[in-house]
Amino acid sequence: MPEVKTSQMLLIDRLYAGEMPSKEEFVQLLSCHSREDSEYLFKLARQVRENIYGKDVYIRGLVEFTNYCRNNCYYCGIRRGNRNLCRYRLYDSEIYNCCDEGYSLGFRTFVLQGGEDMYFTRERLCAIIENIKKKHPDCAVTLSVGERDYKDYLAWYESGADRYLLRHETATEEHYNKLHPGEMSLSHRKECLLQLKEIGYQTGAGFMAGSPYQTLECIAEDLYFLHELKPHMVGIGPFISQKDTPFAGKENGTLEQTLFLLGITRLMLPYVLLPATTALGTIAPEGREMGLLAGANVVMPNLSPAGAREKYCLYDNKLSTGGESAQCIQLLRESIEKTGGRMVTGRGDCKLLQDL
Ligand code: SAH
Repeated sequence: MPEVKTSQMLLIDRLYAGEMPSKEEFVQLLSCHSREDSEYLFKLARQVRENIYGKDVYIRGLVEFTNYCRNNCYYCGIRRGNRNLCRYRLYDSEIYNCCDEGYSLGFRTFVLQGGEDMYFTRERLCAIIENIKKKHPDCAVTLSVGERDYKDYLAWYESGADRYLLRHETATEEHYNKLHPGEMSLSHRKECLLQLKEIGYQTGAGFMAGSPYQTLECIAEDLYFLHELKPHMVGIGPFISQKDTPFAGKENGTLEQTLFLLGITRLMLPYVLLPATTALGTIAPEGREMGLLAGANVVMPNLSPAGAREKYCLYDNKLSTGGESAQCIQLLRESIEKTGGRMVTGRGDCKLLQDL
């Protein structure tokens, strides 16, 4: 450790002490930091994580059960306007088979993710959730199916869903409107997040690092939004362009910035469940491991049937094999252990829920 701390390190110390830097200070920190500053951040982030979660890293089995979507987000490969995509939705029995297989592999959380596919009505999803919970009462069910009615959210919660992932994508209105067509709005997305929290879900928000038109001021807003919302989970992964979207050929987010944001998020929200995302593993060979070393404590390998994986192409070259595949759990265990972590099979709920 250097004798004299840099101004960046002093800002990081303040975050560690539970203080929120101003937005200007965040911009400053994000725009200019050395490798030593990052290492300093990651070290504190690991410390904070360890104080709360020890060496535990939680695993979630991701079931991508439909790539139909009514939305047309400019960045996303499964947007409704993508005519090059072969659409699929899993039969209920296929979803159950994924969960059964995941269960025997050791997974105790299943994440049902999909596009906003209205085929999956309130009632259909209720039945699916109930059946999974009946068969695996010791498991958590996480939903990630976008913006739906309050009554849908409530009914799914009452059917047994435990958690909900809905990234806010960006907390800046102007930026939101550059990522989404006019029929979508940031205010509605935020409203959904508040509803989910109020209903009682362990709720996840988040955003992409390096999405088109994102400025450092946007990121500072995102950090403030997260600090205010205090979600139980935060998903942050790099933007990766997808060839059949309006953002084809746009520059990808970077490993470096994503890791830095993971570290900041861990300091800002010590109890947060923070995945080292598939997107992070996709932009760099050891990306996921580096995410864990920057303060992440969750990994979400893919449990979807082989045929579905390539069709759930949110972005180009998305990994779904090797350590990203639930079937390769031994590989995953080794890569977690390489970072000093311990792979835990168990629900892996957010600690100190009552404080959030
Ligand atoms: N329909 C659900 C699930 C969306 S997919 C919902 O609306 O929440 C899950 C996440 O993938 C999105 O929230 C988005 O942040 C991310 N994603 C989509 N396209 C991406 C891309 N091109 N690069 C990186 N992440 C992307």
